[in-house]
Amino acid sequence: MKILVAVKRVVDYNVKVRVKSDQSGVDIANLKMSMNPFDEIALEEAVRLKEKGLVTEVVAVSCGVTQCQETLRTAMAIGADRAILVETSTELEPLGVAKILKALVDKEQPGLIILGKQAIDDDCNQTGQMLAALVGCGQATFASKVELTAERVSVTREVDGGLETLSLKLPAVITTDLRLNEPRFVTLPNIMKAKKKQLDTITPESLGVDVTPRIKMLKVCDPATRGAGVKVADVTALMDKLKNEAKVI
Ligand code: AMP
Repeated sequence: MKILVAVKRVVDYNVKVRVKSDQSGVDIANLKMSMNPFDEIALEEAVRLKEKGLVTEVVAVSCGVTQCQETLRTAMAIGADRAILVETSTELEPLGVAKILKALVDKEQPGLIILGKQAIDDDCNQTGQMLAALVGCGQATFASKVELTAERVSVTREVDGGLETLSLKLPAVITTDLRLNEPRFVTLPNIMKAKKKQLDTITPESLGVDVTPRIKMLKVCDPATRGAGVKVADVTALMDKLKNEAKVI
């Protein structure tokens, strides 16, 4: 069985982004970029399934600019067997990515498709769900445990107040939550080996996918700054402020 894993290149989670002065977006020029953390978890899970002998090939896919090649090389250093870059300079929306992935699912025929539950740059949490709908297969979002057999996959999900376990017929789409696994460190020998692995570059047009944006970003702004706090003399003064200034009681 083959697993397709979607990996997005995003601003590294340690970097604090700045809103552009014209509020048209955030400035990402010259910032450190990394693989979306939830996608690292997706890849780790796919590689573990391969190491258990349940899967024969792990294919990593990234959609975006040429530099996504670096993300795909990291994916292959973690353990993906080969990678596909769907190259475009168009700003991609979840529906565009889902359509690209659907075209690749048709071509590659994977038994399982694993994505992150959300990309930490746009926080959309949409691509996996849209992909499952386009493919017409089952989906299990926010996975915290995955057990694969030849025909089905059992997925435990973290839901309000407990855990829910689903059994899905393959092929299926899974999106990963934080507690699914702890991704391994990438070792230097594996980085060297990854340089020799196959990385194919194609375009959305070659897959027959139109990625023209459908959503217009109106503006992006910083969160409101919080005013400085004050020390109150006693509980009576605190109650007075909560009642008459903050008006919360
Ligand atoms: P989102 O719906 O944007 O929050 O993204 C959810 C997941 O979809 C991510 O964790 C990735 O697995 C996948 N994804 C989104 N955008 C891309 C992209 N440009 N290239 C590859 N995978 C992506």
